[in-house]
Amino acid sequence: MSRIRLLVIAATAMLAAAPSRAENPLLRKWAGPYGGVPPFDKVKVSDFKAALETAMAENLKEIDAIAKNPAKPDFENTIAAFERAGKPYDRVTAIYRIFSSTMSTDDFQKVETEMAPKLAAFTDQIVQNKELFSRIAAVYDARETSGLTPEQKRLAWLDDTTFVRAGARLEGPARQRMTEINQRLASLFTKFSQNLLADEKDYVLYLEKESDLAGLPGGVRAGAAAAAETRGHKGQWAILNTRSSMEPFLTYSDRRDLREKVWRTYYSRGNNGDGKDNNATISEILKLRAERAKLLGYATHAHWRLENSMAKTPERAMELMEAVWKPAVARVHEEVADMQAMADAEADKGGPKITIEPWDYRYYAERVRKAKYDLDQNAVTPYLQLEKMREAIFWNAGQLFGLQFKPSTGVPVVHPDIRVWEVTDAAGKHVGLWYFDPYARPGKQSGAWMNAYRNQSKFDGAVTTIVSNNANFVKGKPGEPVLISWDDASTMFHEFGHALHGLLSSVNYPSLSGTNVARDFVEFPSQLLEHWESVPEILNRFALHYQTGKPIPKELVDKIDRASKFNQGFITVEYLAGALVDMKLHLAATPDKTIDPQAFERETLAALGMPKEIVMRHRTSQFAHIFSGDSYSAGYYSYLWSDTLSADAWEAFVEAGGPYDKTVAKRLLDNVFSTGNTIDPAEDYRKFRGRDPGIAALMRKRGFPVPVAQTGGTSTPG
Ligand SMILES: [Zn+2]
Repeated sequence: MSRIRLLVIAATAMLAAAPSRAENPLLRKWAGPYGGVPPFDKVKVSDFKAALETAMAENLKEIDAIAKNPAKPDFENTIAAFERAGKPYDRVTAIYRIFSSTMSTDDFQKVETEMAPKLAAFTDQIVQNKELFSRIAAVYDARETSGLTPEQKRLAWLDDTTFVRAGARLEGPARQRMTEINQRLASLFTKFSQNLLADEKDYVLYLEKESDLAGLPGGVRAGAAAAAETRGHKGQWAILNTRSSMEPFLTYSDRRDLREKVWRTYYSRGNNGDGKDNNATISEILKLRAERAKLLGYATHAHWRLENSMAKTPERAMELMEAVWKPAVARVHEEVADMQAMADAEADKGGPKITIEPWDYRYYAERVRKAKYDLDQNAVTPYLQLEKMREAIFWNAGQLFGLQFKPSTGVPVVHPDIRVWEVTDAAGKHVGLWYFDPYARPGKQSGAWMNAYRNQSKFDGAVTTIVSNNANFVKGKPGEPVLISWDDASTMFHEFGHALHGLLSSVNYPSLSGTNVARDFVEFPSQLLEHWESVPEILNRFALHYQTGKPIPKELVDKIDRASKFNQGFITVEYLAGALVDMKLHLAATPDKTIDPQAFERETLAALGMPKEIVMRHRTSQFAHIFSGDSYSAGYYSYLWSDTLSADAWEAFVEAGGPYDKTVAKRLLDNVFSTGNTIDPAEDYRKFRGRDPGIAALMRKRGFPVPVAQTGGTSTPG
C-alpha cells in the first residue's frame, strides 16, 4: 500500500468524523408544507458558521463543474446550470439575513463580524472564475443565433453584465486588489450597521414624571410604558432612540426641552466621537468604492452603480432631483412661515418667544395641520388598528389581483410575535407564504422592510415564493388593539406592495423573479400601492374606530384628503437632501482623498440652500441605506424616481374611472407585478402606460407647481 493511498484513507476517515451535513439543520432541504418552509425552530446561532462554510464550499464545487464542463457552452449547461447551483447556500443565507436584520444578538454579531469578509470573498471567487465567465460570455455573444427565448436572452445579459461589472475582466494585481477591497468593504458595512444598532439600543430616555408626558396621546404613553416595563423600568416611560419612538414624541410632546433632547440624541447616532462613531468608517468606504470604480473603468462609484438602473446615469438622476428641489424648498419656507406665525401668536398671549428649530418642526406642523385643515392626527389614529389595516391590505390585493389569504398555523417562526399566512389565487391555487413580523424588539433593525426568503421560479418545476413584511410597531398591552398613524398605515401598504411584487412573480428563472429588478424600479410597485390607503372602499371597510367599530367619518376623510399635500415641503426636502448628499458624496469621492463626512454634509447642504429648520432624513453618520451595504449607495434617489412612476401610474387608474378598474389592474399585473426583471423596466412601464412617464403627476401629487414643459406625460423622469 503506497503512502498516498494511506493519506487518502486518513482524509476519508476525517471527513466521516466531521459533523455531517445532515446534522446541520441550516443546510438541510426545507421540510414541511408548501415545498418546504424555513426551519426556524431548529436554528442555533452556533450552527451558522459551519453551515455557511459548507454551503460555500459546495457551491464552489458545483460552479467548478459548470466551468470545467467539456461540452460546448450553451444556455442549458451554463446559464441554467448556474441558476440551479447554490441551493443550500440560498437556504442558509436566507435565514442568516433574517437573523442579521431581526435577531441580531451579541452572539450573532460575533458570527457576522467573522463571516462578512468570508462571504464577500466567496462572491468574488465566483465572479472571478475565468472559465465560468468565458462560458457565460460565449452564451451571451451567441444569443441572437442560438434560439433563446427573450427571457433567456435577458438572463444571459444579466449574468454577463454582473460578471463584467464585478471585475471578471480584471487581471493580475487589479484582480487581487478588487478582492481585498470587497472584503474590507464587507467588514466596514457590518461595523457601520452594528454601531448604529448599538446607538439605537443603548440610549433610552426614561421619563419618570407625569409632567414629562405633556401633550403625548394615550397610545404613545401606553407604548412608552410597555417599552419601559420590558426594560425593567416598570412605572416609567421609555422613549427609544428609534424612528418609531422619536417621531410621535417630536410631533406631540409639549415639552420643548425634551423634544430637543430626543432630537439631538436621535440625529447624533453614529456621530458621538465614541467607540461607535461611524465617520472614519464612512471615509474609508467612500475611498474604497472610488478605487473599485476606477479599477472597473468607471469615472466614479455613482457611474458604476447607475449603469444598469432605469436612470442609466448620475446626471439624469440629478436632473430629476434638481427639478423637484427648488419648488420643495420654496414650500418649506411657506410652511415655516405658517408655523412661526403660530408660535408668535402664542408668544403674544404670554407664551415663550421662540424661533422654529428642527425639533419644533413636527410639533408645529401638527398644530398648523389642526388649525388650517382642522385635522388632528390623534382623531385619525383610533380608526387605524394594526390588524384591521392588515385585513385591508389583504382585501385590496384580492380586489386588484384576485389573491386570498388564510392563516397558516404550525409553520415555524423565528420569534413568537411572527404570524404566517398562506396566499392563494382566486381559484384557490397556492401562490406563496407571507410572514408578518410587526413589532419592535432589541436586535431588530429600525424601520420597515420586505424580505424574500425564497424566490419564485418555474424552470425546474414550480417553486413558490416566501416573503415577509417587517415593521417596528410598539407592541401595546396584551388584548388591546395597536393603533397606528396614517403614515404607518401607508407604510404597510408600501411594504405589502413589495410583498405582492414577490408573490405575483411568474417567471422561469429565480434570478429574474419578483423584486430582483433595477434599484430605481423596485420602489415603483410599493409606492404605487400606497395610493389605495385612502380610497373609500378601504376606509369604509377597515378604518373602523377601535371602540365603537364605526367607520372613519366622511368629513374626517375629506380633511385627510385636503391635508394630503400639507407638509410636503418638509417630507420632500428631508428626503431629497439625503438623496442629493448621497449622490454628491459618491461623485466627489476619489481613491486618495479623505472626505470628512460631517464637513461634506454641512458644506453640500449649505450650497444647496438647505432650510435650517430641517435635517437630512438619515444624516450621513446614520445613513444605513448607503453605508450598511452597496445596494442603495448612489441610489437613494431611487425613491423619487420610483415615485415619479407611481404617481404617473396611479393617474392611469384615475383616468380609467377608479382604483379597481379591471383593465388597468390587469395591465399592471401583466407588465409590472408578474414580470420581475425579464424585461427592461423602461419597456415594462411603456407597455403598462402606453407611453413614457412624466413628472407632472408627481408635482400634482405633492402640490407643487407643474412646470410648463412637463404638463403632458410624454417625457421620461429627469
Ligand atoms: Zn420600499
